[in-house]
Amino acid sequence: DFHLDNFFQNALFATLPPDFYTHLRPTPLPAPYLVAVSKRLTGEHHVSTRNFQDQEAIEIFTGNRTLPTINPLSSVYSGHQFGVWAGQLGDGRAILLGDTINRQQQRIEVQLKGAGATPYSRSGDGRAVLRSSIREFLCSEAMHALHIPTSRALCITGSDHYVFREQPETTAVVTRLAPSFIRFGSFEHWYYNRRHDNLRTLADFVIEHYFPHCRDQQNPYQTLLAEITHKTAELMAHWQSVGFMHGVMNTDNMSILGITLDYGPYGFMEAFDESHICNHTDQQGRYSYKMQPSIGNWNVHALGQAMLPLIGSVEDTQAALSEYSNSFVAKWESLLRSKFGFRMAHESDKQLGEDFFSLMQANHADFTLSFRQLSHLENEISPKDDALLDLFIDREALKDWLNRYRARLAMENSNADDRQIAMRASNPKYILRNYLAQNAIEKAQNKDFSEITKLLCILENPFDEQIENEEYAKLPPDWAKNLEVSCSS
Ligand code: AMP
Ligand code: MG
Ligand code: MG
Repeated sequence: DFHLDNFFQNALFATLPPDFYTHLRPTPLPAPYLVAVSKRLTGEHHVSTRNFQDQEAIEIFTGNRTLPTINPLSSVYSGHQFGVWAGQLGDGRAILLGDTINRQQQRIEVQLKGAGATPYSRSGDGRAVLRSSIREFLCSEAMHALHIPTSRALCITGSDHYVFREQPETTAVVTRLAPSFIRFGSFEHWYYNRRHDNLRTLADFVIEHYFPHCRDQQNPYQTLLAEITHKTAELMAHWQSVGFMHGVMNTDNMSILGITLDYGPYGFMEAFDESHICNHTDQQGRYSYKMQPSIGNWNVHALGQAMLPLIGSVEDTQAALSEYSNSFVAKWESLLRSKFGFRMAHESDKQLGEDFFSLMQANHADFTLSFRQLSHLENEISPKDDALLDLFIDREALKDWLNRYRARLAMENSNADDRQIAMRASNPKYILRNYLAQNAIEKAQNKDFSEITKLLCILENPFDEQIENEEYAKLPPDWAKNLEVSCSS
C-alpha cells in the first residue's frame, strides 16, 4: 500500500558539497487546497490522484508539512540575463524536497515552486501567483504530450494568501518534476566565482549521474559539452516545430539535460510572425521566435566558456560547440519532413518549406491550424483544400504552393491515407493558446478549477481529433489579440 512517507528519498543533489545549496524548509501557506493534479503524471509514479484527496498530501505538496525523512534544499546558480552577466541568482522560490523513483525506476527530483523565500530570493518574496502556476502546470504537461523534452508538473495547490504583483493576486505552489534542474548557470556560477574545484565537482556529478558514457571518453568534459550542445540544438528544433516561444532564454533557465525549464511568459505562435515576441518586457526581441535557435547557440557558448578550464583548450571547447548548427538543422529538417508528410528527404524540401513559412508570414496564418489543415489534404485538389485556403488571404499564392507540394508528394508516390495519419500525429490540433489558459485562470481565480482539468485532458491528446472539443482548436477570439504576458509571476 502506498504512503507519501516513502514517496520521497533524499536528493542525490544533496550529495554535492554544501557550497552548492542551502538546506531549508518551505514556508507554510494558510489553509491550502488542491487546485489541480496531473492524473497522467501520477500514473508514471507510485502515487495516485486518490492521494490528493487527503489534506495530508495537500499539506506536503504546499510545503506546510515536511516529512521527517527528507531534507529539502535550494540550490545556487548564476546566469546571463538578456545577454548580460547577472551574477548570482539561484532557486529564489524553488525548493527541492527530494527525489522520487518513478515506475520506470528513474530517479526524479521533486521541487516545490512558490514555497517561500530562500537565501537566493534577493528582493523576491519566494512566492508564485495562481496565474503563473496554472500556466506552468498546463504547459509542462502539454509540452510532454507534444513529445518535447520538459520538466513535468504533478499538482498545484493554492491558498487565499495574497501577494502583490501588478495587482494583488493569490498564491499557489506547483510541484514540478525533472531528472535534474541543473542549469547552464549552475556551471557559470563556479566559473565566474573562480571556483574551479566546485566546477569540476559539478561536472563530475553531472557526468556520473546523467551522462555516464562520457566517462570513457578521451576528454569527458568535452564530450559532456558536445552532448549538451546537441540536446540544446534539438530542443530548439522541437520548439520551432510547434511554435513554442520560451520568452526568457537566459542561461539560468537552460537545462543541462536539454529539457524545457522555467515556464514564465512563454507563448505558442498563433498568427504566424517569425519576429513575434511573447514576453512584452523583451523589447529588443532577443527571445523572439526566429531568434531562439541562435540564442540556443549563444547559450551553449556561454556554457562552453564556463567549462573551458575543465576542457583545457579553446580549440577543444570550440570543437564541442561546433556541432550545434548541424544538430539543429538535422532535427529541424527531420521534424519538418514529418510535418509536411514526406517519407524521404529531397533537395527541394528546404525551399518548399521556407516558402510555406513565408506564406504563413505574409498572410498572418495560424501556425497550428495551417499545419493541421495541411494534414487533411488529399492527393488531388479537393473541397478539403478550402479549410486550409480559408486561413490565407492570398488564396492564389497558396494554390500555387499546393501545386508544388502535390508534385513533391507525387515524387514519392505518397499514399494519402498513410500520410494523413502520419501528419496528424506530427501536427497537433490542440495547443495551449494564451486565451485558453486565460479562461482557465479567470475561472480559477473565482474558485472554479474545472477548466484547468478540462484543458489538461484536451492538451494531453493534442494530436487526436476530439470532435467534441472542436472549439478549443479555434482561432483566438478578438479580445485575446492583445493579451500580454510579462515576467511578473
Ligand atoms: P526566472 O527568469 O523567472 O526564471 O527567474 C530569475 C531569477 O529570479 C531566479 O533566480 C528566480 O528564482 C528568481 N525569482 C523569480 N521570481 C521570484 C520570486 N517571486 N521570489 C524570489 N525569487 C524569484
Ligand atoms: Mg550550503
Ligand atoms: Mg528561472
